[in-house]
Amino acid sequence: MSSKSYNPYANAQAQFDRVAEMIGLEQGVRELLRQPMREYHFTIPVRMDDGTTKIFKGFRIQHNDARGPAKGGIRFHPQETEDTVRALAMWMTWKCAVVDIPLGGAKGGVVCDPHNLTEGEQERLCRGYVRQLSKVIGPWNDVPAPDVMTSGKHMLWMLDEFETIVGGRYPGMITGKPVGMGGSLGRTEATGYGLIYVLREALKELGIKPEDTTASIQGFGNVARHAAKMYQTIGGKILAVSCWDNADKKAYTFVNKEGIDVEAMISITDTYGSIDKEKAMDMGCEILDGEAWLEQDVDILIPAALENQITLVNVDRISKSVKILLEGANGPTTPDADDVIKQRGIFLIPDFLANAGGVTCSYFEQVQCNMNYYWEKDEVLDKLNTKMTAAYKAVSELAKRRNLYMRDAAYVISVSRVAQAVKMRGWV
Ligand code: NAD
Repeated sequence: MSSKSYNPYANAQAQFDRVAEMIGLEQGVRELLRQPMREYHFTIPVRMDDGTTKIFKGFRIQHNDARGPAKGGIRFHPQETEDTVRALAMWMTWKCAVVDIPLGGAKGGVVCDPHNLTEGEQERLCRGYVRQLSKVIGPWNDVPAPDVMTSGKHMLWMLDEFETIVGGRYPGMITGKPVGMGGSLGRTEATGYGLIYVLREALKELGIKPEDTTASIQGFGNVARHAAKMYQTIGGKILAVSCWDNADKKAYTFVNKEGIDVEAMISITDTYGSIDKEKAMDMGCEILDGEAWLEQDVDILIPAALENQITLVNVDRISKSVKILLEGANGPTTPDADDVIKQRGIFLIPDFLANAGGVTCSYFEQVQCNMNYYWEKDEVLDKLNTKMTAAYKAVSELAKRRNLYMRDAAYVISVSRVAQAVKMRGWV
């Protein structure tokens, strides 16, 4: 990976500044939207199983809530930083706006490595996180969700702590809960499936049949696995996936030129998205270095692991065969690498459009919680498909009409919607 360090917040601001300039955004709106409205930084003391107390660092950052309650996941990651959370909060605002759901943007994080925490320690950490924030999160102001290394069980501990503090039942306080405990059917699949709904539309536009395509995916966690499944359903063939190996502290790429059997691969993957190397070799996979996913001769690349993965240093490793870059992760491409992607004419489906299926389904979850009436899975996925397709078509139509790069077109739509909301509220 690159020795140059990329700051996701600086990237997010640079992307915003470009679009603010492009659409001639007024100075007050520009200043308001290029930074978060509120930030909470705090410590979380956790009683460890061995009787000692460990102090963790936590954040919740609300970028903008002019269009509705702020919304965004909570990440548990040892390298979590304020600036990553700021960038992700900002991208959440644009994401909710591009799919036109009535929510703003926020993000949370805890600097920790859940691999090294027992179930009990993770539960106390979740409860401690909510104790620090109970006055500023909730169904009507800021609604968290799972993200990297957090899941439904963490959300339920957080909900339980919130309800204990506030008194009463507020299932719409948090999303990504287990089904049967206020969760929505389809939520687990939503981000990955959403990626493929927009890919399907892009392939239609480009006149390419899905069954004639191949893909390589970075990551094999929640997003990547469900994207892989749906991509196979529409006829595509996956030649490579990659993952982080926590024991070796490095990433690996698993390649099978005949096509990877997604279900079989899932069966040898742990809950953190790490694939068993020996079993993968038994399944006919070749194991290469962590960046090899980038240089496979495929039609579609899907980064679905972390931010800053395609940089100026490795962007030239992308094979000439690649036609589409479908960004599953948030901020996987640095701005300098993005310029190269643009020059090479690779068709980009930008992150905050492509991976908006998760937050769209989280919004559906909240709606169901507030009604206390839950939809069938087909109904959820139909609604998701409709929303994602409409958002993709609006961005692509603008891109064509004004000859814009897809990322810029998505930004123009989102920033204009949020700018209009802050002005209508009379904030600027
Ligand atoms: P996850 O924790 O379930 O999976 C992450 C995957 O990435 C794992 O397979 C892990 O092994 C792999 N990984 C980590 N570092 C890697 C590296 N250096 N090289 C290769 N693989 C690596 O996370 P997720 O929920 O699938 O999220 C993935 C990305 O998608 C993140 O950027 C997240 O912010 C974004 N996202 C997630 C959702 C959602 O609903 N889960 C929604 C929108 C965006």
